[in-house]
Amino acid sequence: MSTGYAYHELYGWHDTGTHAGLLPADPRRGLQPHRHFENAEAKRRVHELVVATGLVDRLVRIAPRPATDDEILLVHSRAYLDRLTSSNDTGGDAGDGGSPFGPGGLDIARLAAGGVVQAVTAVVEGRVDNAYALVRPPGHHALRDTGMGFCLLGNIAIAAAAVRLSHGVERIAVVDIDVHHGNGTQAAFADDPATLTLSVHQDRVFPPDSGHVTERGPALLNLPLPPGTGNGGYLEAVRRVVLPALRRFRPDLVLVAAGFDANAVDPLARMMVTASGYREIARLLVDAAGELCGGRIAFAHEGGYDPVYVPFCAHAVIEVLAGVTEPFPDPFEANFDHQGQQELQPHQEAAIVAAEALLPEVPMG
Ligand SMILES: [Zn+2]
Repeated sequence: MSTGYAYHELYGWHDTGTHAGLLPADPRRGLQPHRHFENAEAKRRVHELVVATGLVDRLVRIAPRPATDDEILLVHSRAYLDRLTSSNDTGGDAGDGGSPFGPGGLDIARLAAGGVVQAVTAVVEGRVDNAYALVRPPGHHALRDTGMGFCLLGNIAIAAAAVRLSHGVERIAVVDIDVHHGNGTQAAFADDPATLTLSVHQDRVFPPDSGHVTERGPALLNLPLPPGTGNGGYLEAVRRVVLPALRRFRPDLVLVAAGFDANAVDPLARMMVTASGYREIARLLVDAAGELCGGRIAFAHEGGYDPVYVPFCAHAVIEVLAGVTEPFPDPFEANFDHQGQQELQPHQEAAIVAAEALLPEVPMG
């Protein structure tokens, strides 16, 4: 088993400024300067944990490179790329007022998208069995004409479109487990029956009116879960909705938008997933890829904003990809794994049933 790993120190240099969490600092509004929720710490500490535990020695390093204009334009408009380019020297915002970047921000966003392209390409070419791209800024909210929700470029969408073009990969499934709706990826493939976008997220967190189970397309499925969903509800959702959808669709390649903001202490959502839950989700997805498409699966990092706990969640997933049989223990297991209502609850079951009913709409491969 060989697992590719794409990371670059410049991902930590993407500068989201001195915000007060989500909002620009402004003393007139009582907003004392602090940090943006999307700062480097959580992701940098994932990488440092991967190094500190020695897991990195079991991975094949993949060098990120900047995504080209041609690759970016597979997903984004020329006008949007021109806007980002004109702000690259000064820094600015990618369009929604919530996606700030410092000088050189587009360069780093290109390196993030290109890191995912490189990781996915290595999987498609069989140079590695699977891969994890630990990139920043994230990508799954970015739309054709604008950045959104901390995202500048649609990293996974660009990688999917790029390998389809370069390597003729026909059927691609994108499974988005970030706690927020993968609206950008969904929009990028809204008219494409060959790309299944499947998002499991907390009901109406971000974007606030997005990711409803009622949204339809040639190949899309949304599963909004109620706040408070823990390992039991998430695993049931994967077993009863995600895996049957994948088996029906029969992808040639599985991409995972790996957000860790459904973790039990994330500042931006209200879910209860723990490192052991993420480990099991990853195992189910990796096994499904083994069953359906020769194991071709690549994960790209998205959100996850608790700098202390996210590293253990991501580390668990990377261990699964690398086939580690003696995992590094989660030191927070006693704190988080046994909280009340970690098991499936009736109102979570109802949300799963609603999505299950739509499985016949997933196009068969
Ligand atoms: Zn998120």
